[in-house]
Amino acid sequence: MYNMIIPKARKLTDSQLEEIRRIASEFDCDIGIVVGASRNIYAILGEERRELLINRISGLEYIDRVEGVDAPFKLMDRRSALAANEISIGGGTAGREPLFIAGQCTIDPKEPGLFLETAAAVKEAGAHVLRGGVWKPRTMPYSYQGDDRALEIILEARSRTGLPINIEVMDSHQLGLAVEARADMIQVGTRNALNYSLLKEIGNQTAEAGTCILLKRGRHMSDVNEFLACAEYLAANGNPNVMLCPRGTLPTLGEYRSHPDESITPLIKEKTWAPVVVDPSHSVGRAAYVPACSLAAMAYGADGLCIETHVHPRKGIGDDPKQAIRPAALRSLLKEARQVWDMRNRYR
Ligand code: PEP
Ligand code: MN
Repeated sequence: MYNMIIPKARKLTDSQLEEIRRIASEFDCDIGIVVGASRNIYAILGEERRELLINRISGLEYIDRVEGVDAPFKLMDRRSALAANEISIGGGTAGREPLFIAGQCTIDPKEPGLFLETAAAVKEAGAHVLRGGVWKPRTMPYSYQGDDRALEIILEARSRTGLPINIEVMDSHQLGLAVEARADMIQVGTRNALNYSLLKEIGNQTAEAGTCILLKRGRHMSDVNEFLACAEYLAANGNPNVMLCPRGTLPTLGEYRSHPDESITPLIKEKTWAPVVVDPSHSVGRAAYVPACSLAAMAYGADGLCIETHVHPRKGIGDDPKQAIRPAALRSLLKEARQVWDMRNRYR
């Protein structure tokens, strides 16, 4: 059982927070702040079950209630006080309309023009968020690893198109640069989904800005609970604005890059309020299979899609030559994805 403090207003004032901290410290406890998009909530950290402490805090006139949450995911749980948290980005709000992220797997620092073209084209095709890999987690140490210069290129693309940007970070250095650049969405990739130290650091460093986090599902992960615990790490460290991204697990079907796991969405939704944005590109790993996987994901209840797209896939690097679809295909796919969204919503 954990305890969450829910104020009457959207957040506590500095002096109210100070008063609560002072009371908590009498009981050797501290207060953690969780910054939601629509309200903040406050976690009692430490030996928090003391009735006297809870009564003192509940009795303050600006506190609505102190809620005991009997769930392993106290913040990300469907029943938590954050369940009404809505995450908006690029003019869309997850859950209210389908949310689309698109762009290159990798930004080639030698070809800034290609990325700028891709950025304009995905905007035109209807994407809400522009993705572009600046630093890349590569299976082989000899493959292209990314380059700080690519950050400049995606920032230029953001200012030209007005699209918010998604950047994957793998370590503190990259996180620092992404935060400094005010990246609109930070991606935690499949390899780092279980890197608890990185998750804590990202939660901490993005808490104030409430940056949207795209948390991919680990390739080696077992059930939904393990995935949700990773999201809980981000939330418990201050930032609950997490979108969960199934992207395929270990390959079992031969020709597919990964085992497509878009069918996990209804199971995730049973437990958490967090939106689900499926990545079909890394799941099936071949441009020709991306449309089927995308539509299946929407049918299974996804709130959005993250699709690798490139103006000239064959001129791309990283995954782009194999996986990226072209902007014209993206445009029709997004239209069809919206149709599937409408169809499946009739069954809710
Ligand atoms: C990517 O988004 O290009 C990427 C490396 O993703 P994943 O972590 O899912 O492999
Ligand atoms: Mn990729």
